[in-house]
Amino acid sequence: MIYPLYAEIGYLIAAVLFIRGIKGMTHPRTAVRGNRLGALGMLVAVLVTVVQLKMLPIGFALTGIAIGAAVGYLLALQVQMTQMPQLVALFNGFGGVASVLVAGAAVAGMIPMATEKTAEAGAVDHRLALFAAAVAGLIGAVTFTGSIIAAGKLQELKLFTRQWNIPGLPIINGLLFAVCLLLVILMGTGATWPFWLLVLLALALGKLLVLPIGGADMPVVIALLNSYSGLAAAAAGFVTNNSVLIIAGSLVGASGLILTSIMCKAMNRSLTNVLFAKFEPAVEGPSADDVYEGKIKATSADEVAMLLDGVQRVAIVPGYGMAVAQAQHAVRELATQLEKRGVTVEYGIHPVAGRMPGHMNVLLAEADVPYEQLKEMDEINPSFSQVDVAIVLGANDVVNPLAITDPTSPIAGMPILEAANARTVVIIKRSLSPGFAGIPNPLFAADNCLMLFGDGKQVMIDLIAAVKEN
Ligand code: NDP
Repeated sequence: MIYPLYAEIGYLIAAVLFIRGIKGMTHPRTAVRGNRLGALGMLVAVLVTVVQLKMLPIGFALTGIAIGAAVGYLLALQVQMTQMPQLVALFNGFGGVASVLVAGAAVAGMIPMATEKTAEAGAVDHRLALFAAAVAGLIGAVTFTGSIIAAGKLQELKLFTRQWNIPGLPIINGLLFAVCLLLVILMGTGATWPFWLLVLLALALGKLLVLPIGGADMPVVIALLNSYSGLAAAAAGFVTNNSVLIIAGSLVGASGLILTSIMCKAMNRSLTNVLFAKFEPAVEGPSADDVYEGKIKATSADEVAMLLDGVQRVAIVPGYGMAVAQAQHAVRELATQLEKRGVTVEYGIHPVAGRMPGHMNVLLAEADVPYEQLKEMDEINPSFSQVDVAIVLGANDVVNPLAITDPTSPIAGMPILEAANARTVVIIKRSLSPGFAGIPNPLFAADNCLMLFGDGKQVMIDLIAAVKEN
């Protein structure tokens, strides 16, 4: 179909805003502005689309937008920071299903297809548009069910987190994928009937692909599904010849893939390893009793304040527990108190600490921690041996030495923050409960380690008071 000039210009403005938005998100200092630019781009794209929509009364479309915007606004207000990955997973899923619906509407002739523009070129173009519709249907449907399962796993819903042991699953998935590909090719020859059958099979495929993947691999899966949702949108853009959908979809597809690769590296997992997780019986690791019995040294805020008296260098390692406790402002306050006493304070940031990529950066930025103090793993690891006290606040898996020492551990090979090398390590958490990976942590029982039990925020407040008193 051909868009009016104002629509093409509007789409161009939206595309520029998307690109500027993504550029802004490459640095925490410009991320908020980047986010706003992206949102503005989306508003422009939606308004232009609605204004030049012919098959719907404008009031109908505006009502839909108002309802969607209200639901999105309320969701964003209510969701806890720790639940953000689930929300992202759901948004990916909705993106996928939206692409399926756009492609389905085009196949059913409810909205014009790209081929109208080049009708004189004949049937080949129509077949290409149908092929794009099939691709949008396949990827969009896989993204939808895959994302719902991923969100359920992250929300730790029992239905999704239990061990799914379906015999012959790789073969079933392989067959499903082969049939889906066959239907895509069939649509490429001009058939329209396979579309909804393809969608149905792809919905099943998305579910079966993600179901057996362990919760600890969910960050990678979500990044990949994010990329899929972009690819599905780009394909839907080809179906309707919509340039902004093609550009936005490609941007999401490419950035999702880059994020996937970063996450794989951070967890030392190859993508095939994550996606085709085998059903090997879990190797029984050491029990918590074996690891901890008689070796845990509990401490108090007063003792830690004394320990901090006269030190030169402190490293803070935040993790998921800091997010749960919302302790970031108290952390900043403790750092300020220490800096007043001439102590150098820095933060060790693990790329998968917390429950979403960049989780710790977002929280610490909220508390105005200077960016220069945030050190990535490669930067801070070599210097932990010069750190007097490492304060590990609500982090567990990302400092667990089993990742290096136990090749059978679920986190084997994951690069960790080597906080254990600091002169003294103070671990702040509520109990000896495990982290996300569900395994004990020998660091807690190490000779140079002290456990300061309690809620992260309350402990920090006590610690600040004790430091001030000292
Ligand atoms: P972990 O999940 O390993 O450990 C968090 C620790 O925080 C727990 O042991 C818990 O212990 C403690 N905690 C919880 N609430 C509080 C509180 N209120 N006050 C103090 N402590 C608290 O977190 P990490 O950040 O070390 O590691 C992240 C893990 O999550 C990795 O395994 C990663 O692969 C995975 N993951 C990461 C995602 C991402 O994108 N970043 C997404 C999904 C999973 P206790 O209950 O005793 O207090």
